Amino acid sequence: MNAVDATEHHGTSANDPAPSLLAVIIDTNPHAWALLEKSLPLSKGIANILVFINAHLACNYANEVAVVASHSQKATWLYPHENQPQQRQPRTDQDGDISMNNNNNNIVGESAQVNKYRPFRIVEEQVTRNLRELMDSTTSADVQATTATMMAGALTLALSHINRRSIAWAEVHGADTSVTDATQTTSSGRSGGSGSGGRAVTGSEGLQSRVLIISVSGSADSAHQYIPMMNGIFACQRLHIPIDVCKLSGDAVFLQQASDATRGVYMSLSEPRGLLQYLMMAFLPDQRSRRHLVLPSRVDVDFRAACFCHRRVVDIGFVCSICLSIFCEPPENGNCLTCGTHLEMSEYGAKPAVVARKKKKKKARANGPSGTATPTPTSTPGP
Ligand SMILES: [Zn+2]
Ligand SMILES: [Zn+2]
Repeated sequence: MNAVDATEHHGTSANDPAPSLLAVIIDTNPHAWALLEKSLPLSKGIANILVFINAHLACNYANEVAVVASHSQKATWLYPHENQPQQRQPRTDQDGDISMNNNNNNIVGESAQVNKYRPFRIVEEQVTRNLRELMDSTTSADVQATTATMMAGALTLALSHINRRSIAWAEVHGADTSVTDATQTTSSGRSGGSGSGGRAVTGSEGLQSRVLIISVSGSADSAHQYIPMMNGIFACQRLHIPIDVCKLSGDAVFLQQASDATRGVYMSLSEPRGLLQYLMMAFLPDQRSRRHLVLPSRVDVDFRAACFCHRRVVDIGFVCSICLSIFCEPPENGNCLTCGTHLEMSEYGAKPAVVARKKKKKKARANGPSGTATPTPTSTPGP
């Protein structure tokens, strides 16, 4: 079935490069944006991001975009938003809020929208409207409750969307891998029914997906999401989805690992006002173009992990030999908190026995080759 599809579409799709799907995760943490207010207010940041999204959509008529907000108490879709009608009529009918905000923001002028390229307009409208709704629904109690951002949830939402779109794209355009590589065709044919999603994403000519995280929160707030975050990162690594990270403030530990593990671009902006320029220069090229470019990547990646018991970022920890869980201190009674295996701690914590040397070295001794030799080994005390 797929093979037949591929031959049918081969003639039309061979010349056109496969479109790319860009999933943008915007960290909308109110705490962090409040700190950035002077250099880059949220409204300006969103405007820059929208221009960047338009540029991505303009690269190829079939390019797709998805926008997820990683907010303080939830992760939510900004675009595409399934529950909302596509037409503009119900939006203007709702109440007076929208027109009032239009006047304030001066971004969405009704008359200016008429001649705008339709895909640009739809994305802009939905993103600004959904973001406004998200901000309006955020109460002061929500803001006070936490300073974290739901990055792991947002990454999961983006990944699920990418998976869905990849499968849909592969169904419409046939077996993508068969175009380039015969060996890949046979392997994909074998895994046909069950692993269609994985095949669609890993194929070099399938829908090219990537994730861009625009992050403002620090790492201290995200340590408790370590495990879901790493699961998302490993899923991206497996599916060959690069995670690009554009850091506007602070420095998040796990995002460095995310871009390093998935071969994405990591940039920590020293000047957030230049966001659009950074986005255009470093983050616009898709995977196909990136093969020919030298992209900024981070050399000194922070590889620290968070312990599973307290979600503290640790330099040195204890690892369960069965499930590889990380602990900052030996678990109680030696039982792993994750898998429950009793771990043999033997003599951990006991002070090492100090064995007195038999004799002091002689003071006067020529610096011959024997001078560096270790003293006669004393037998370690047996159990
Ligand atoms: Zn701990
Ligand atoms: Zn374990």
